[in-house]
Amino acid sequence: MPRACASASGLSCVLRSRASAAPAIANFLLISGLRVQILQTGLDLEAFFARVRAASTRVLMLDYDGTLAPFRVDPAQAAPYPGVVPLLDAIMATGRTRLLIVSGRWTRDLIPLLGLRRVPEIWGSHGWERLHPDGGYEAAPIDPPVRARLSQMEEWVGQVEPLGGRCERKPSGMAIHWRGLDNARRSEIRNVVFQKWMETGYAEDLDWHDFDGGIELRAPGRDKGDVVRTISSEGGADSVFAYLGDDLTDESAFDAMPAGGLSVLVRPEFRRTHAGLWLHPPGDLLDFLNRWHTAAGHD
Ligand SMILES: [Mg+2]
Repeated sequence: MPRACASASGLSCVLRSRASAAPAIANFLLISGLRVQILQTGLDLEAFFARVRAASTRVLMLDYDGTLAPFRVDPAQAAPYPGVVPLLDAIMATGRTRLLIVSGRWTRDLIPLLGLRRVPEIWGSHGWERLHPDGGYEAAPIDPPVRARLSQMEEWVGQVEPLGGRCERKPSGMAIHWRGLDNARRSEIRNVVFQKWMETGYAEDLDWHDFDGGIELRAPGRDKGDVVRTISSEGGADSVFAYLGDDLTDESAFDAMPAGGLSVLVRPEFRRTHAGLWLHPPGDLLDFLNRWHTAAGHD
């Protein structure tokens, strides 16, 4: 049975075991109206923010779409929620937090949407790209057969886009978006993509990933979990980490969080997750970022 609590941080919460999962939480929400839930037994937000306050290194990793920005039918129009940009600017300005964006997008598509005063460290294309704050850029090498498949996928565009799908090209794959379409059309697009993926041998070179709003076919070998492992290996023993994400593709990052790190599902509706905390955007997201900013300290 969940246990309700109201912490001194201002983040109301429900404590429950991870194993009891969604049904209990959904029922409890109807009764309580609480919106911020602790999903991991033993997770203490007060203790976590005390560690943020005391740590020598603070690392805040943020997914973009669905986490910092609401979804749009046209992904190119997905701007951050009001209030997010000033807060991230303020957190970065103190120099007391290493702030990273970890996105499935191509970094070049993401930068114009962020609207931040300074471009932060960005990991794009699910970890295939890394843009450093000083502008240095690294892209992991993609095997030649996979690159050839990605070029061949251009032929798919002419079949998918007449159905209403939107093809997003990335260095490591292609995302086919169907947000805004009805279920029948989504099913039609899915069938076309599946047939192409199966019939021509693409399945040997490209992995299939469902995400919230479509399908992505991507070079195998990297995901957001690899990003978290790399970042956590770069931190010292006295480091504190948080990762905020919304989608299935963020689960690998949640799973890769180091001990004591906080993984946060940011999403209006609950789904099964390995995250330790669930926040509703945008209000609870802003509360969390504010709390981080306060705990990290600023002048
Ligand atoms: Mg997302």
